[in-house]
Amino acid sequence: QVRVRFAPSPTGPLHIGGVRTALFNYVFAKKHNGTFILRIEDTDQNRYVEGAENYIIESLNWCGFPFDEGPGKNEKFGPYRQSERKHIYKEYADKLIASGNAYYAFDTAETLDFHRKDHEEKGKTFIYNWHNRLKLDNSLSLSVEETQAKLDAGEDFVIRFKSPQDETLHLTDIIRGNITIETNVLDDKVLFKSDGMPTYHLANIVDDHLMEISHVIRGEEWLPSLALHYQLYKAFGWEAPEFAHLPLILKPTGKGKLSKRDGDKLGFPVFPLAYKDEKTEELSRGYREDGYFPEAVVNFLAFLGWNPGTEQEIFSLEELVQAFDLSRVNKAGARFDPDKIKWFNHHYMQEQNNDDLAEQFKLLFPEALNDIDVNYVSMVINLIKERATFVTDFWDLGNFFFETPSDLDEKATKKAWKEDSPELMKELITIISSVEDYTVENLQTAIKGWITSKEIGFGKVMMPLRLALVGALQGPEVFDIMYLIGKDESVRRIENLIN
Ligand code: GLU
Repeated sequence: QVRVRFAPSPTGPLHIGGVRTALFNYVFAKKHNGTFILRIEDTDQNRYVEGAENYIIESLNWCGFPFDEGPGKNEKFGPYRQSERKHIYKEYADKLIASGNAYYAFDTAETLDFHRKDHEEKGKTFIYNWHNRLKLDNSLSLSVEETQAKLDAGEDFVIRFKSPQDETLHLTDIIRGNITIETNVLDDKVLFKSDGMPTYHLANIVDDHLMEISHVIRGEEWLPSLALHYQLYKAFGWEAPEFAHLPLILKPTGKGKLSKRDGDKLGFPVFPLAYKDEKTEELSRGYREDGYFPEAVVNFLAFLGWNPGTEQEIFSLEELVQAFDLSRVNKAGARFDPDKIKWFNHHYMQEQNNDDLAEQFKLLFPEALNDIDVNYVSMVINLIKERATFVTDFWDLGNFFFETPSDLDEKATKKAWKEDSPELMKELITIISSVEDYTVENLQTAIKGWITSKEIGFGKVMMPLRLALVGALQGPEVFDIMYLIGKDESVRRIENLIN
């Protein structure tokens, strides 16, 4: 039974890397008919941010991969917020102490700082392990009575994992293969604190075990914790889940890790939804508000570290579920390319329903479009969306469908408006007026027939005509434009240009 979890800490908005982790967990779960779990890792109360959990859940829903099990949903292994599981962890810390795998330590921050600096000055790194343990203030250097006295006196303590001396650990990662680590380079990590809260490491392992997680799929930044996690499973006598550490996401230059700040600096979103920092009031842009379709974001994210091994680039979420395989996830960092996500957005734009797009477009330009019938807007969109990446592009591409072009493009005028243009346009008006049944085909037949009979080049008529209708020489088919804006408006625009 595949059970995977996405376990964010609610410390702010979900970064695009977090969304990718969630996506890979989701598709892996669905591919194996498994369960996708959301667990909120909020043991670090100092970093807790109000609203972050809602932001995470809204992001998952918007992307289209809601969790199967989590806060408020199918809570059979709940609660799913670690702060609500506080009562669970101490017992497990105690077990580790009883089995000799963990111990109490009372060192003050000043003592630890002193040792760190002292080592630094000698060009060494201070590691809290067997090498230094006995010089420090902990239950391995104190008698049982001394330790108990400190606890009874209510001294601040932490519980540390007792990392073994001179052992070689053999770890396995689905993406990275076999990894060996010497325990001598490992710290005795803190598992529990006297405020009654576990640290990430203890809570994470206990919960993964209690929630029967089968695969841990998470970002590469957690790879250094893998050795400790393996040892914790062993110390508890539990079977460890399988691990897969996803590659880093790199800046567009390919150099260095993409950071939460890069988006604002470089001008593209790195968050799924816009986010306002409560403290600084700073607003970060989000894919949703910037006009990206969730399908585009998902398709883009899937390729950050994974590829199907074929030429296929377009994948719906369902297709990803079919094609996804952890063995095709790379070790090497994945470069974040903001142009690529626009390319995907353009693709998914073509697949959107025109009526839905029309509603969105109207909301974005209420002043210009409020009174315009949604069906008309929808027909306009049908003509212009081929060239659009975002809904906001519709205005630039199609404003002339909604209002008479006010100023003419200078270059276009020079190119299109010749000495004989006024005469030709006058004649053209009679031709247009004579079209009784005003359809695209009839217009086309009448106008083309007339041009042919006059034995002049098409451009002589079509260019000034387009200039009159659009105010420029771009845009969709002239006959489509004339049909949509109607006979009277078409004639009016040509007359405007003549005068
Ligand atoms: N709470 C950790 C995070 O914020 C979870 C890491 C893990 O998946 O083990 O990413």
